[in-house]
Amino acid sequence: MDQLYTAAATEIDKLPLYSADQVFSECRCAVVVAPHPDDESLGCGGAIALLRQSDIPVQILVVSDGTGSHPNSRRYPPSQLRHLREQETRLAAKRLGVDAQAITFWRWPDKAVPGLGTQDFIIAVDQGRRYLRRHSPALLFVPWRGDQHCDHRAAWQIIQACLQDWSHPPRQVAYAVWGSRSAGLPLLPPGETGWRLDIRSVEEIKRWAIAAHRSQTTLLIDDDPNGFCLTPDMLANLIQPWETYLDVTDKR
Ligand SMILES: [Zn+2]
Repeated sequence: MDQLYTAAATEIDKLPLYSADQVFSECRCAVVVAPHPDDESLGCGGAIALLRQSDIPVQILVVSDGTGSHPNSRRYPPSQLRHLREQETRLAAKRLGVDAQAITFWRWPDKAVPGLGTQDFIIAVDQGRRYLRRHSPALLFVPWRGDQHCDHRAAWQIIQACLQDWSHPPRQVAYAVWGSRSAGLPLLPPGETGWRLDIRSVEEIKRWAIAAHRSQTTLLIDDDPNGFCLTPDMLANLIQPWETYLDVTDKR
């Protein structure tokens, strides 16, 4: 078991399970912040599909360019890989019910999204403020602050800085993709509270959306021995009949 967790941590399947109606009934517009192209589907695919089935607009913000997954591929150098990953994201979003026009790609370099204290942090926060003002979401899906990937934590930091001076900030819920080495969130980390969203009715749609990210789920790019691929174990951890969301209030 990962050292991040202690014996006192709560098992995820003990968390309360809610229907979309119970948790999204007041929502008029949602924004999903995805650190990489695929996190929207891996982390929130079920929620996005359920929101769209209720005709609630969903915007997807993809923070990094995703070119870090296969850094040595000759067939897919960074510009090609970025193009491919954006195409995959558009297809995944379409399967979840989100139009291409509702996706924004910030294209920060993969593994170098500017986090707190870095040179470009202010630029990213300014960009984020303008984006959030334009869409003024009622509900914001953000990466979990403790995710074990620097881009996920940096995306969290950018969004929190954006919202610092908002008098009426949107409701935020956090999702973990890299809460453990094998992906997913096996236990609720100490100090966190959360709940589960019942996604049984759209689980297959979520699976279909994730499959759109072929560069991450298959050996489509097979000329990089260091290339990344989501293993069946990782996918099994990430695709459950529920999605786990952590409460964000007062944790900035
Ligand atoms: Zn990611």
